[in-house]
Amino acid sequence: MIVLKRGQATDKNIKAIVDQIEKSGLKSHIVRGELDAIVCVIGDESDKEELFKILSTYSFVERVTPVQTNIGYKIVARENLPEFRGNLHTVKFKIGDVEVGNGKPIVIAGPCAVQSKEQTVEIAKQVKAAGANMLRGGAYKPRTSPYGFQGLREEGLKILAEAKKITGLPIVTEVVDPRDVELVGKYADVLQIGARNMQNFPLLTEVGKYAAKHDKGILMKTAHGLPTIKEVLCSAEYLAYNGARKIMLCERGIAVKTASIRNTPNPLFLRELREHTFLPVFGDPSHSSGDARFVTSTADSYLQACANGLIIEVRRDDEKPTIDGNAVCDFEQSLPMTQFREYMDSLKSRKIL
Ligand code: PEP
Ligand code: MN
Repeated sequence: MIVLKRGQATDKNIKAIVDQIEKSGLKSHIVRGELDAIVCVIGDESDKEELFKILSTYSFVERVTPVQTNIGYKIVARENLPEFRGNLHTVKFKIGDVEVGNGKPIVIAGPCAVQSKEQTVEIAKQVKAAGANMLRGGAYKPRTSPYGFQGLREEGLKILAEAKKITGLPIVTEVVDPRDVELVGKYADVLQIGARNMQNFPLLTEVGKYAAKHDKGILMKTAHGLPTIKEVLCSAEYLAYNGARKIMLCERGIAVKTASIRNTPNPLFLRELREHTFLPVFGDPSHSSGDARFVTSTADSYLQACANGLIIEVRRDDEKPTIDGNAVCDFEQSLPMTQFREYMDSLKSRKIL
């Protein structure tokens, strides 16, 4: 890992380091804050002493340090970038016109699944009017039963494209199969990796490579079980290792059922993730609580635990429990639009870290 001197992290200096690394047959990943930058070396560094010797002679290099790989991740580790050490700041980046990590909570809202054009476009217009920053909606759904509604697939993606054209909202949508990454990526601004796929390493690899090549965002959910901080960050490292730069994590609750609640929200885990990584972290109060009655209070607890944003499932006020013969996906946990609008109003003056 090469740490640049503060104030000297210019494009030109970074390029000189990257070129040198590439000349020796290795790849690199750049992490940039506001003040500092590091270049992580990707690949087998074992016999590259010559390379590190050359790099340490550059006047703008502060130091060249081998990073321990025993924790399994290094690119996404907070402690490696001096500027992020000992605080809770995150990197900033843009998804379309939306800046993530700038101290305002980012809200991604929309239906659980794209189930018809009319439903998706109407919800998109309403969440936009309420102040949402991005539109969510699954065109490919990971379903427990093969008989469950699997999503409208490409037709669903086209509906999302239509909703984006009308509202201008960037699209967040899930990809469940490495073979679909190209197709989903054509329509998505942010590719979502679902909880069930947090450790689907071939999928993480494909999505990471695609996002790197096409400058896409990724929203990776935490797994259903009891993932450790290390497991979540190793999965994020797969994305970064393959070149992705705009990575967002998302706490979506653990599959422990208390009373009637579908899962158990874990805002403290979100908070702890923030301590270990500078990647922005979102909370998902819809899947973690599983009940519309608890969505806004759960959302608040995520914001108090330092979430950079929220992903919330919403439905129209008068939505029927079925659309075209299919049950509305996650109806019971979707926030009716009026309540969503009220919640968005309550966030207007809210500042976050
Ligand atoms: C979703 O966001 O639609 C979803 C399926 O979530 P999760 O992967 O967290 O279950
Ligand atoms: Mn859902």
